[in-house]
Amino acid sequence: MKIVLLGPPGAGKGTQAAMLVTAFNIPQISTGDMLRAAVQDQSPMGIKAKESMDSGALVSDDVVVGIVRERLQQDDCERGFILDGFPRTQPQADALKHVLAGLDKELDSVISLQVETEALVERLTGRRTCADCGKGYHLRYDPPASDGSCLSCGGQLIQRDDDVEETIRNRMQVYHQQTAPLEDYYTKEGLLVSVDGMGEINSVRDQISTALQAV
Ligand code: AMP
Repeated sequence: MKIVLLGPPGAGKGTQAAMLVTAFNIPQISTGDMLRAAVQDQSPMGIKAKESMDSGALVSDDVVVGIVRERLQQDDCERGFILDGFPRTQPQADALKHVLAGLDKELDSVISLQVETEALVERLTGRRTCADCGKGYHLRYDPPASDGSCLSCGGQLIQRDDDVEETIRNRMQVYHQQTAPLEDYYTKEGLLVSVDGMGEINSVRDQISTALQAV
């Protein structure tokens, strides 16, 4: 199964991608995670990407397409993959089609998660992650221990640098200007399935499963 998860920041792409990893035993390819790893490693690419990421802007198409092209050629993508956060622009979508054609592959489905803007802002401002084990929390909906530590390992929780309200609003604007047009792009390709992302995690998962059964 070769899937793209489309949707604004906070729509639940990462959460749903993790569930699809288990269901289909295929890798999640998150360009955001790969870029954050590069920032952490202070690689030349990471140092360059950090400025755009901190302001909520997009990293250049060339850089992101390069990372994805390399990743899709790895053996574990042979049976399929879940792209989470890529493509985000039309040139990226064109490049993806080209890379896949070179590998004699094409996408099976593009799932677009629909969530209202104010719900997205609330989800993102409350989002925290354990610095040690990576477990995700939401301060209101899925709170950590009463002293603010991780329930699994006792680690310290951290907030992503770009999960502060001003940057979140900028990321939303970037999404509407540069990424939302991909809904039309993939509708024309006959690949787009819109899913209501406002409900419970398991209900969203069930809608996605139903959509993928029809592929
Ligand atoms: P995410 O974790 O998907 O929300 O991505 C975090 C940040 O990484 C974004 O705000 C962008 O700065 C950058 N990023 C991730 N994926 C892409 C992409 N496909 N194209 C450009 N920038 C990206």
